Amino acid sequence: VNPELSKSEREQMIHQIDTLAKQYQKENGRKPVIMEVCGSHTVALAQTGLKTRLDHAIRFISGPGCPVCVTDQSAIDQMISLVDQPGVILTTFGDMMRVPGSYATLMEKKQRGADIRIFYSPTEAVTIAENNPGQTVILLGIGFETTIPAILAAVREAEEKSVKNLQVYLSLKRIEPILSTLLNDPDLVVDGFILPGHVAMIVGERHFNFLNNRSIPGVISGFTLDEMLTSLKQYLDMLTAGTPGVINNYQAVVTAEGNPVARQWISEMLTPVKEAWRGLGEIPESGYAFTDRFSHFRVSSDLLTQTPHRVKKTGCRCGDVLTGKIQPLECALFDRICTPDNPVGPCMVSHEGSCSAAYEMKETI
Ligand code: SF4
Repeated sequence: VNPELSKSEREQMIHQIDTLAKQYQKENGRKPVIMEVCGSHTVALAQTGLKTRLDHAIRFISGPGCPVCVTDQSAIDQMISLVDQPGVILTTFGDMMRVPGSYATLMEKKQRGADIRIFYSPTEAVTIAENNPGQTVILLGIGFETTIPAILAAVREAEEKSVKNLQVYLSLKRIEPILSTLLNDPDLVVDGFILPGHVAMIVGERHFNFLNNRSIPGVISGFTLDEMLTSLKQYLDMLTAGTPGVINNYQAVVTAEGNPVARQWISEMLTPVKEAWRGLGEIPESGYAFTDRFSHFRVSSDLLTQTPHRVKKTGCRCGDVLTGKIQPLECALFDRICTPDNPVGPCMVSHEGSCSAAYEMKETI
């Protein structure tokens, strides 16, 4: 953990960042553009006031790191429709409850009597399954590498206890294919990444070495004000010196190899598959399915209705926000029609969503 900076050291670092960013702008005719990949960084930048303070010098764009936000609408609709099946108890993290489906939200389904339970840890789904042997308990497994071990822990517990009525709807996301896809997008202008500290804790610093071939700076960062400040400074140092690389600025938490147990579970229990992403479509090997050994935990195909996907013309530009094409304030609905109390798209629902973070933005330094 970085030692906490004094107020004057913070101001000095902000001044250095400002100077480096202006130097870049002078040489390149535009502000440096940095993408914060992780939804928690989006929230941290907003809540610490850093985004507001440095907005004149750096263009911050949000990335695809909020798992609920990047889940394709057809998958959202399919998950919501699971509760229409008789004998099903659906279990989920709370942030799925208000995500708008084409026809309804899970919250609305619950208000109409569907059995939906919110968990804090996926292993709670195993207990629910044990307590309800006559019903099918479905665990919604949505997340990046950060969340995957917790989902797999639930599956392993169910296996050990021979729980037969637990099924898992996997909608998992892999960080490397999505970053590589973004870097191949000719319409995206990005000069570096604040890399996700929590994902890096699982996959390890070395996982991001692929960025070295792309000559783009990346800093693995923690989430406090001082960690974010030092990460921004390191990014700008690399960018302005023309020495791109990957820096681990979260060394107390992130090792070179990551979490060996979690990585072992992932390689033993999951296999990469194509995954559909909001705003990007299908990307090869960007998701995970169970390996054959654990395939009996897959949601039964009998329960998966192919609800016709109704494209609602809401004007939501979540897909453009998630791929760095626009900032939330550039969406015409932001704070006019779309607010956290009345979210039009998933980016305003999840607390990790870019639009929600932008709405909550505060000046605190
Ligand atoms: Fe969608 Fe609302 Fe964000 Fe606009 S402000 S992109 S409508 S979630």
